[in-house]
This record gives sequence, structure tokens and C-alpha cells, in this order.
Amino acid sequence: MKKFAVIGNPIKHSLSPALHNWVFKSLGIDAEYEKKRVFQNQLAGIISDLHCGKLDGINVTIPHKGNIMQYLDEINPRAKSIGAVNLIIKNGNKLVGNNTDWFGLTMTLKKNGIDPSGKEVIVLGAGGAARSIIFAIKQSGVKKIVLLNRTLQKAEKLQDEIVFPSSLEDSVMVIKNDSIIINTTSVGMQSEQSPLDLGLLHENQILIDVIYTPFETAILKFGKKIGAKTLNGLDMFIYQALASMDLWFGEDISMQVNFPHLKTYLENKLCLQK
Ligand code: NAP
Repeated sequence: MKKFAVIGNPIKHSLSPALHNWVFKSLGIDAEYEKKRVFQNQLAGIISDLHCGKLDGINVTIPHKGNIMQYLDEINPRAKSIGAVNLIIKNGNKLVGNNTDWFGLTMTLKKNGIDPSGKEVIVLGAGGAARSIIFAIKQSGVKKIVLLNRTLQKAEKLQDEIVFPSSLEDSVMVIKNDSIIINTTSVGMQSEQSPLDLGLLHENQILIDVIYTPFETAILKFGKKIGAKTLNGLDMFIYQALASMDLWFGEDISMQVNFPHLKTYLENKLCLQK
């Protein structure tokens, strides 16, 4: 039996085991997937578990997507350019880091008919998720990204000809009534807080939150109430996970999965978590 895991901290609310084990069961794949709460000083131990065969592959989540890279033998060029790894694949004796978060967002935008090409997009946050999202929307031909972060210096590190960093405190000056806004901060994951003043939200905006636990963050709840188009991170989460499986098994597992059934299963799980 093959063994997989997601590592991170906090990890309690991760739906990755539920998703992967559902797919394994529904497709008759002899594998299991668990979640592991891992601190920074335990990363070397996880790497050794991969080398010795205790694990066949892992997903990496907050806060290890950057730190894990130093332990790997190879990093896929896209993941390198993003600067974050969310999965590790075993290739013979080598451990290879890759990134499927960007693909998750790209597929989510496509599926929901949101096309950022030639437009300005506001991205909140400048951590690992933001790097993947910026990569994805650049691939989609975005014209300008206004990157708002609490710590301006972190946003400034991502500045280039498309990315214009600013402090989150300056939101009022950059957010427009028809902005596409993508929240990649972790604000809202463990509280009812919003990274933005809700007074800046408008019915003509598109509001995307990469968070999916809770199912609706404060920003999405309010946006929905005033009639804005809202989207949580569940589709992105599912697409990145299916892409991880395709890379681990070298097959088109994603094509065999019944996406609506899987999504309903996860939505029910999220309801039970409330
Ligand atoms: P990260 O690297 O730790 O970055 C966290 C970001 O949130 C930083 O920009 C940080 O700002 C900001 N932040 C944290 N607390 C804040 C506060 N109180 N006020 C304002 N800003 C605050 O984390 P990450 O890996 O990017 O993950 C962020 C979120 O995305 C998590 O909730 C994660 O679960 C979610 N995610 C979802 C998916 C999906 O598939 N749906 C995929 C990846 C990530 P500073 O720079 O100022 O600290």
C-alpha cells in the first residue's frame, strides 16, 4: 500500500486526507493519506521518511512551502519561479519539489468563467499562496496586479513590471467598485476577521478567497450579501490535489474522478466541521 501525507501547522482542519482517501477508495487505488502536524525542526525527519519508503509522497502546506525547498534534490522550474513547493514526488532516489497551487487557481478561474486577461487584479497577501496566485494570473495574461500586504517589505520583494506592491492600509486608495479581489492572506481562517474594511466591498466586484475552511469567510459572506460574485478556495483546493495525484501516480487520475461528487462530499464534511 502506498502512503501519502500532508504536512503543516496548523493542520487540524485540513481536508486533504478526506479528499485523497475518497479518490483512492472510489478508484480502487491501494493507498492511504494522512495529515501530520509538523514543526520546522521536524522537516528533516519527514524527508528521511520519504527516502526510506515510509512515505511515497507528501503535500506541503502552511508554513513550510518555502522552507522545505532546501531539503530537496530537484525543484520543478515553475515551483522554483513561484518560490513555493506544495508537493514532493519521489523520482528514484531523488526527491522532487513541485507546485500545483497555481494550476488549482487557473482551473478555478476557467471553471467559473473569470478571465483576468488584460485586467487589473488586487491580490491581498504576499505569502506562499500569493506567489502561486500571482504566477497563475500572470499566465492568464493579467495586465496589472496590485499587491496589498500588511508587511510592505514582503510585497516589495515580489515587485516587477506587472506587480505593484502597496500596504494593506492603503486599500481605500486602490480598490475600485469593479475590482477583482483575491484574498490569499490567512485572515478569516481561524476568526471572523476580514483583511479588508468591508465598507470597500461593492456588488460589481468579483471576490475570491483561497480559504475554504470556513466555507465562507467574512469577506465572502458580506460580498454575497451585497450581491458581488464570490468564490471560496474549495475548487482551487480540489484541482491542486488532483494535479498532485496525477504527478505521484503518473496517470490521469484527475480525468477519472467525478468532480461534482467529490465536491459535494467535501462540502458535507465542511458542514460537519462547523
Ligand atoms: P503564508 O505564507 O504564511 O502567508 C500568510 C499571509 O497572510 C501573509 O501575506 C501575511 O502577511 C498575511 N497575514 C497573516 N495574518 C495577517 C493579519 N492578521 N492581517 C493581515 N495580514 C495577515 O501563508 P500561505 O501559504 O500564503 O497561505 C495563506 C492562506 O491560503 C491559508 O489560509 C491557506 O490555507 C490558504 N491556501 C489555500 C489553498 C487552496 O487550495 N485553496 C492553497 C494554498 C493556500 P504578512 O506578510 O504581513 O505576515
